[in-house]
Amino acid sequence: MPELPEVETVRRDIAPQVTGRRIAGAEAGPGPRYGSLSDAIGRTILRVERRGKYLLFDLGDRELVIHLGMSGRLFMAPRPPEDSHLRAVLELDGAGAGYLFFVDMRKFGTLAVVRPGKYDTIPTLAAMGPEPLSDEFAVEAFCRAVAGGGTPIKALLLSQKAVAGLGNIYVDEALHRAGIHPAARGVDRKLAIKLHQAIRDVLEEAIANRGTTFSLYRDGYMREGNHYAELRVYDRAGKPCPACRTPIEKTRVAQRGTYFCPRCQPQSLRAAAGRS
Ligand SMILES: [Zn+2]
Repeated sequence: MPELPEVETVRRDIAPQVTGRRIAGAEAGPGPRYGSLSDAIGRTILRVERRGKYLLFDLGDRELVIHLGMSGRLFMAPRPPEDSHLRAVLELDGAGAGYLFFVDMRKFGTLAVVRPGKYDTIPTLAAMGPEPLSDEFAVEAFCRAVAGGGTPIKALLLSQKAVAGLGNIYVDEALHRAGIHPAARGVDRKLAIKLHQAIRDVLEEAIANRGTTFSLYRDGYMREGNHYAELRVYDRAGKPCPACRTPIEKTRVAQRGTYFCPRCQPQSLRAAAGRS
């Protein structure tokens, strides 16, 4: 599933190709996932921004919100691709006119045209926590957000409320770097500060590598990302931890397949704090 680095890569690929161009036509498959797309017709794409895992197309008095879901792919082409999973098309005017296509095999992706900032139909976006690579991702607020002991830290990070944009891959990677067990409940201040930095480092490195292609992700030019080989724990069960050579283990936390190093990420937080 595309997470922040993959969505940001698509944004950087797509933005220069669509910014300043008018949407001359829009077509989408049936169903509520693409319901309001015709509201985009006649409007000009002023900017393409990102919030968490959402792409936000600024259309002036409207906003086109795109979530890639599990397998969504967004790319420009001069004519429709031969693809039975084509879900939506935007026809763009202007020099070198072309089409922006949305292809989605698994059909979890969504497109919605809303009034700017009116996200009441998109609750995850409405309640989104701070952007991890911006100044609004403040250390102290993050320490408070992860201090509570009710929820496993992995579930808390996946919720998007403490910080935006993380999914299964980068949560596992960030927790490994910070030396925190994914099922830990309540993270002390010292480890929270490490985790805050680890989240930024992991995301910045993955963006530099144009994202991780684990299975279905492709960038805005339909190419695979390059970050898979750099992963330290995710999808590496039985392989040696790059830090201590202990075999990586796979377990289940927050109903998700979860990878961790039993030595670098001990179950007891007291043990982890003693090591840091
Ligand atoms: Zn290790």
